[in-house]
Order: sequence, then C-alpha cells, then structure tokens
Amino acid sequence: MSGFPEFGYRNHELFVESVSLQQIADEFGTPCFVYSRAALTKTYQEFDAAFAKRDHLICYAVKANSNIAILNLFAQLGSGFDIVSGGELQRVIKAGGDPRKIVFSGVGKNAHEMRMALHAGILCFNVESEAELVTLNRVAKELGKIAPVSLRVNPDVDAKTHPYISTGLKENKFGVPASEAERIYQSAHLYPSIRFTGLDCHIGSQLTELEPFMQASNKMLNLLDTLQSQGLEIEHLDLGGGLGIRYTNETPPSIKDYVAALCASTDQVKQRLLIEPGRSLVGNSGILLMRVEYLKHTSARNFAIVDAAMNDLMRPALYDAYHDIIPVNNNNGDMKSYQVVGPVCETGDFLGHDRKLGLTDGDLLAVMSAGAYGMSMSSNYNTRPRAIEVMVDGDTVHVIRQRETIDQLIAGEQILS
Ligand SMILES: *Cc1c(COP(=O)(O)O)cnc(C)c1O
Repeated sequence: MSGFPEFGYRNHELFVESVSLQQIADEFGTPCFVYSRAALTKTYQEFDAAFAKRDHLICYAVKANSNIAILNLFAQLGSGFDIVSGGELQRVIKAGGDPRKIVFSGVGKNAHEMRMALHAGILCFNVESEAELVTLNRVAKELGKIAPVSLRVNPDVDAKTHPYISTGLKENKFGVPASEAERIYQSAHLYPSIRFTGLDCHIGSQLTELEPFMQASNKMLNLLDTLQSQGLEIEHLDLGGGLGIRYTNETPPSIKDYVAALCASTDQVKQRLLIEPGRSLVGNSGILLMRVEYLKHTSARNFAIVDAAMNDLMRPALYDAYHDIIPVNNNNGDMKSYQVVGPVCETGDFLGHDRKLGLTDGDLLAVMSAGAYGMSMSSNYNTRPRAIEVMVDGDTVHVIRQRETIDQLIAGEQILS
C-alpha cells in the first residue's frame, strides 16, 4: 500500500478519503482512475516545505499525469511545470499555470512548439543538442525574441533503475555530454537570439537511492563553477526529477530527505534551485479501480480477467513493473494465486502475476500507486475507450475526465469517398 492514510480500509471496505470505492464503481463504472486531492496537496506541500527558505521552483513533470484538474491544483499551490511538448504547454496554460514557471524539456522540440513556447513566455528551454540550439536561435530571431536556455547535461551517472527509464548514462539519447557542455556554453556568441540562463540535468526515473542524485549534483556544480569562472551568469540550477516511490517494498528516500540532500549538496551556490518531480508528486495519490469479469481456472494457472488492461496501465507490460492489487471488499474468501490479466489480445497484457487473492466474479480490485504514468501513458489499443478519471475531495467525487466514447475514438477517421 502507498502508505497514504487517504487510501485505507474501513470495516473491510476500501475508501479514498471519505468515499468508498464501491460507491465510485457503482456511480461511475470501471475501469476508473481515482485520485485523492488531499494526498496530492500534501505531497506538493511536503516538497515545498522541504526547501524551506531556499530560492526554489518545483516544476511538476506534466507527463506523469497531465489531467488539467491536477495541473490546476498544483498551479494553485504555486507549482511550475516541466513540459515535453506543445500539447503539454497548452494543457498547462488551459489549467491556469503560469508560463513564466514553465521549463520545456525533450530531445525533439520542433519549430512550431518553440514558437508557441516563446509566445507564451516560458522560463526556460532545456536544450538537448547543438542542432536544437540552431533551430531555437532561428525561431527566436524570427519572432524578435531572446530564448532563455539551459543545456541539459548528461552527467553520465548510473541511476540504478530500469534501463528504459534511465536517462543519464552517456549511451542514452538525452542531453549533451558534460565534456562538450563547456564548449557549447562558450559558443553563446554564435546564437545571438539565445541567452544561457541555467544548467540542467535529469538522470532517470524511479530512483530509490540518493547516491546517483549526489553524483549528478556534484558534476553539475563542477561545471557551474567552470562556467562562472569564465564569466557566464547562470541564474538557476535544474536538477531534474526522478525520485522513486514505494510500489511495494522499495525504500526510496523520503521527499524531505531527498530535498534536504539536494539543498545541502548545493549550499555553496547562490543560484535558484529547480527540480522536476513527476512520479513522486502523483504516483501514490491515485489508484486504478477495476472489476473482475471472469475467473478462469486451468490446470496450469488461475486467471482473474479484469476490465482494465495494458492500454489503461501500461507499466506492467512495458517495464514488468509491480503494482499492488488489493480487493475493495476485504472479506477474503478462498485465497488463490492469480494471474491478473486484461481483455487485450496480447500475452503481455497483465496487471499482476501470482497475486494471492480471494475472488469471485464481479469483485472490485484496486491497482495501487497508479497516479503516475497511468492515464498519461494509456492508449486506445483494441479500440478500448480510455477510462474515466475522478478526484475525491473529502466526501465529494469530482469527474475530472469523462469516460471516452467509441464515437470520440473514431471521430477523425474516414472511409475513402
Ligand atoms: C520524465 C521527466 C521528469 C520526471 O521524472 P519522474 O521520474 O517522474 O520524477 C523530469 N524531467 C524530465 C526531463 C523528464 O523527462
């Protein structure tokens, strides 16, 4: 379990804040993503409080969960945003986010997205290659603007996480090597419509140890030192996101300890600190509610076939990721070991392997820690409409995204005329 008191049993029934998940399933159907407003708020405030008096900006990584209700909640709490596309920029603006608190990451920003971001007046482009600098300089010049830029430096540290979500090794596609960063900053004169304002890195996701963060931070500090000694004025240091969460028995550093370590390792620099947390801000504040459609017992295995699938929550299929799966009504019947699988026609379509559950047809289950990289990675594979999303606030349930309809799904398609 996530450890949040917002998700817990009352009389053998699973609740989110003051609302039972049984009630949510009855009213809104399944599959359904359910978020706790209180848990989201507390998590943001924990990050913010940990920075104490340090000049800082928390830039929530929108890709972890981009629902505009969640973006709006964070914006109201003072958050900035880390975006990776023009679409995410539009979401943040629609949600009431302050463009001056947006950093724009990603290896493949196109000219159109750059134009949108320059018009909006974002805080910084986190640029990942010299080729991108050339394009950004040209686009900014056309608009008569100066683009604020951080280079994303690849510090070549091992984040010790799943290879698909490790980004800070020299063989990854992200950022520029530290060995080249200095030269690129020194070539600022080649890019008159760009101003280097920051220094940035992001080494990977779901990190459960502080050590790689400290290694990256030290490398960035060395580079910052060099740049400053050469007369460059760097205004902010962006140390990226990547703090892991507890899905089952991981023991990541607490938010408080993580932020304290970042602050301590950079206490000799005067620059504003930026971080870009995604998963750690939203992961444990959401669950995926689903229903058992069929139980199927074969001589080899027991299958619980549920109405959520890999298209709703891709992490198990994509990374072999583990999510706790727990019953909504905890009156444990006959316990068996189940393969919890969805209706999608792929062997990789599973949500959990070998889970000890006491089930009957129609039971409700909750996939825990589904707040990050759940809905935002969902797809329509097998022409499955996307799940509904609701946010619980005390005893109130707000729909924050309607369940998709088949009509919406095929609206853009056409038969040859
Ligand atoms: C994905 C991403 C993040 C957020 O990572 P989490 O592991 O979710 O905290 C931050 N910065 C960049 C550049 C990213 O690509």
